[in-house]
Amino acid sequence: MSKPDAWRLISNLMDHREERLAEYDIYIDPYKQTVINKVVEELKVGTNENIVKVLGYLDINSIAVRGLDGVYRGRGIYPIASLMNHSCICNTRNIINHTKLDTRATVSIKRGECITTHYVSPLLAVYNRREKLKERWFFECSCPRCNSSTDLQAFTSGVKCTKCTNYQVPVYPLQFKSKYRCLGCQEEISCDNVNKLVASLEPLVQALNVFQMPGTDTEESLIRTLEEKLHPTHQLVLDIKINLARKLGRTTGLLRCAERSVVKNKINLCIETLGVMKIVYPGLSKYRGLLLYELADSLALIHTWILDKQISSIHGETDPSQILDPVSNSIPGGTDPSQILDPVSNLIPRDTDPSQILDIPWIFGSVVKLLNLDISPTTSPGADWLKMYKYLSLVVIEESLCCLRFERDVSYEGDIYRNLINMKNSLEREN
Ligand SMILES: [Zn+2]
Ligand SMILES: [Zn+2]
Repeated sequence: MSKPDAWRLISNLMDHREERLAEYDIYIDPYKQTVINKVVEELKVGTNENIVKVLGYLDINSIAVRGLDGVYRGRGIYPIASLMNHSCICNTRNIINHTKLDTRATVSIKRGECITTHYVSPLLAVYNRREKLKERWFFECSCPRCNSSTDLQAFTSGVKCTKCTNYQVPVYPLQFKSKYRCLGCQEEISCDNVNKLVASLEPLVQALNVFQMPGTDTEESLIRTLEEKLHPTHQLVLDIKINLARKLGRTTGLLRCAERSVVKNKINLCIETLGVMKIVYPGLSKYRGLLLYELADSLALIHTWILDKQISSIHGETDPSQILDPVSNSIPGGTDPSQILDPVSNLIPRDTDPSQILDIPWIFGSVVKLLNLDISPTTSPGADWLKMYKYLSLVVIEESLCCLRFERDVSYEGDIYRNLINMKNSLEREN
């Protein structure tokens, strides 16, 4: 594309020049020394007016570009993708391969329906989304989600009621200073007090990101602290839960080495956060793909545990040396082979019955509901859980693959895609 053509394409974009000039100190001043003076006076390129225009194009239209390793590389302008409107529940996502951008539908879009993207993260609370949109893009979002006190039941804005165990939500979410009211006892709280509460908790979350502690204890205790004041899926809690759902069971190595209680927490978090994603970023979103991968891995592990239990009951179970006798002989002084083999062997689980820790029917039912699967799970004691978990694992793997297929060649998530393929193959190989 020639330079004049590129300029013509770019000058069709919004630059919100008037609004930006009206608030000169916010939108122009910060660039005065570092950009405008440097370009115009030192480099002698363009005019003051043109540079202000370009800054507007960049601020309003540019999209973050990351390398194949996921690291932020800069911002790019994509004139056609920039035509998309924002919605707090959008129907597309952008995939950047090197510098080329593809926009893909995440849900089916009807003829005549608006094709939308998100300018701000769909995980945010309503006041946060609307404020950012107004500040940077100069419009007040009134999408169906912003119109709903409960964020259409996602509750990313809800705070814990000070009088009862229920939650307070904005009464008029389209007002920037709406009061909040309890869904249970009707107790009200001012917007300012909610903002103060959230502002007092934000440093705790920032500290977590700065100090990046090993293990997951810090995250888990912070979630408990936040849940005393906020809804369990308020934006501050949700963000930590998504990261924790991915991290649990993987801090020391392979998920299959993790304790059952850890896997249980992981599954609960996956189910909870995927429930929110179903509302705020449905369909083939990357968030869903990554969380479904964690869920699939955990479900496949339960499948293995059920299989192990069946094997150990065939072998008379309880004493691992009965199965491992030939191996234990080669371990010098190894009186209890499970002490040595436990962390890596799925053949000898710490407790032979996985259902002692995991509510196998509940997990199954929750995942079936989450994915709207057309099966009614049986809870009868004679249910063939081995078969059912194999089926469920394969369904979740398939769904995750669908979400992440855009990533398979373009980013570090490609490894996850390949892991999913391996998981699928090894489950299918099994009889
Ligand atoms: Zn909205
Ligand atoms: Zn209340």
